[in-house]
Amino acid sequence: MKAAVYFGAQDIRCIDIPDSVIRADHEMLVKVTATSICGSDLHLYRGTLDPIMEKGKSQTGHELVGEVLDTGKSVGRFKRGDRVTMAYSASCGHCYMCEVGQTAHCETTQKAVYGFGVPFGNLNGTHAETLVMPYADGHAMKVPHEISDSAVLTLSCNLPAAVIANHLADVQLGETVAVIGCGPTGLMALDILLRRGPGRVVAFDKVSHRLASAASKGAVAINSTEDDWKERALQFTSGRGFDKVIEMVGDPETLQMSFDLIRPGGTVAALGVFCDNSFNLNLADVFLRDITLHMNGFANVQPFMWESLRMMERGIVNPQEYFSHTFALSDVDKAFSLFNQKADGAMKMLIRP
Ligand SMILES: [Zn+2]
Ligand SMILES: [Zn+2]
Repeated sequence: MKAAVYFGAQDIRCIDIPDSVIRADHEMLVKVTATSICGSDLHLYRGTLDPIMEKGKSQTGHELVGEVLDTGKSVGRFKRGDRVTMAYSASCGHCYMCEVGQTAHCETTQKAVYGFGVPFGNLNGTHAETLVMPYADGHAMKVPHEISDSAVLTLSCNLPAAVIANHLADVQLGETVAVIGCGPTGLMALDILLRRGPGRVVAFDKVSHRLASAASKGAVAINSTEDDWKERALQFTSGRGFDKVIEMVGDPETLQMSFDLIRPGGTVAALGVFCDNSFNLNLADVFLRDITLHMNGFANVQPFMWESLRMMERGIVNPQEYFSHTFALSDVDKAFSLFNQKADGAMKMLIRP
């Protein structure tokens, strides 16, 4: 079958690999109807994880809409023909960590993640014709046919992350909010938070079409490459800082921006995926200003998939609006390149096997 495999920085290609087969009773085989590229895949694409990756073997992709082809003997919640998606991290559903909602820390799968190869549990990826899901009952989900393929794809990672960001930031009526990062996840977090009756919302990005999208929803859009971004933003808070900050990028630089923008006693909800080994986190500043800091880029998606589906069904978010391009799986390299460059109005890439 065809699948995308990591060969090195800026070198993810579609090649022929052996067909997927079920090897354990808890596994499920799924035909990939469509998949997509996540912002966190760009860490892989740019080579951030290169020293630990098994080149030429690690499959990529963790966002899925598919159809069940076959199930192992102990799979009880799904049958052949079901339309399904799954959380990006494989969780069993019944270990201690799963029971307390920390599904990304599943003790059974040892924190296995789709599409990042050996260092992350040696699972296969969704950028392929078929996918094997271990412990499918624990983290797969049936989805109604009324929801579009592109919208379903956001249930694996992006939309639950946006939902979690809002739970953690817990924006109250009239509060000022800064959103850092206006990719699809940041914009969906914005969609949700605007329903919570905030005061002024300021959105940051470096890419003009993404800022335009945030502005069209009602946020004040500020390009963070401009020298005076901080002064311009803080003026909306009388200089004292934002009540809440939602960070959706995952760079040391954007975490620092969060601290530059938050007021004393405020909450930073950082859902960006941080891959750097170290960054300047000044804990004395966190202490002296009584800042609440959540960093859940390694997000516990599974418990929030149902709530995310309900938001789609009720029209609170319309994830399909964030898909800008469609590629064939054989052109996955072109999809990664365009997404990485953010060229041609790139938002989210839909990939069809
Ligand atoms: Zn993701
Ligand atoms: Zn578990």
